[in-house]
Amino acid sequence: RAKALGKGRYHVFYPAMHQEVIKVLELENDLRRAVERQEFVVHYQPIICLNTGKIAGFEALIRWQHPTKGLVYPTAFIPVAEEIGLINFINLWVLESACQTLRILQNHPHIKNNLNISVNLSPRLFSLTNFLAHVDQIIDKTKINPANLVLEITENLLMDKSDEIKTTLDELKDRQIKLVMDDFGTGYSSLSYLHNFPVNALKIDKSFVQLMQKNQQNLGLVPAIIGIAHSMAMTVIAEGIETQYQLEQLKNLKCDFAQGHLFSTAIDLESVLNLVAAAPQW
Ligand code: C2E
Ligand code: MG
Ligand code: MG
Ligand code: MG
Repeated sequence: RAKALGKGRYHVFYPAMHQEVIKVLELENDLRRAVERQEFVVHYQPIICLNTGKIAGFEALIRWQHPTKGLVYPTAFIPVAEEIGLINFINLWVLESACQTLRILQNHPHIKNNLNISVNLSPRLFSLTNFLAHVDQIIDKTKINPANLVLEITENLLMDKSDEIKTTLDELKDRQIKLVMDDFGTGYSSLSYLHNFPVNALKIDKSFVQLMQKNQQNLGLVPAIIGIAHSMAMTVIAEGIETQYQLEQLKNLKCDFAQGHLFSTAIDLESVLNLVAAAPQW
């Protein structure tokens, strides 16, 4: 009887777990092949200056053009890339692609204002001993002015080995590169930490923005985060703006920049250039 029960369980559990394992292994193999076949692309989401209503820059967001699954979003593969040690390679590739785009924008005859490009950095990049050398090499190769390059880091990066991290961030700052604390409020950083690091801006995570709804009259943590940023002489960017109401509230609260589907999703390079060419006043 007991044996039968055990056997029954075995049949219930095992196939499901087996499927999961196979799925993960397939994804790992797929990812390795994707790197070889260069199946990644970078899309760019406009970031709007709330004061002027103009585009201030773009966030570079990686996508995987999978041969059968179509466009795959980073939340589905970045964690696996971290696990199998591909993340640094992929991330440096995104950085170089984004810098190539920045160079195109910096040379664009119709753009008078400087447009920035932001790139997400995995914390793991900072454990590459030659990380700064890679950055320098990319700057040299793409011939960008690094003053318009923005690197997005996350709070957890500041948690351990913070002396080494601070040294690296200071080095980036020396190159005129700007630093943004992404998804602010979702990690573990303490406020007393933050002002030790050369961070130029805080980005409010979309989960906080999306809690701001007309019928709830509750702005949650958003006013506090904007207050923290401004009190530390940082600018503040809100991500994930989907409604007019959220935009109005953010303007009232003197949020500096915003991005979200209300303005635009992330678009391919060709669309970026069309957008920029269509508005010669920038
Ligand atoms: P993130 O840096 O917080 O990026 C913002 C995410 O919010 C992006 O998702 C963007 O497409 C999405 N988003 C923007 N506006 C809206 C909106 O109005 N509504 C909703 N619901 N979502 C919006 P995505 O592209 O899927 O990226 C997810 C995360 O993957 C990013 O979060 C970032 O942490 C990571 N990531 C993306 N590209 C890279 C990369 O090149 N390197 C590394 N290391 N991480 C990356
Ligand atoms: Mg980001
Ligand atoms: Mg973000
Ligand atoms: Mg976020």
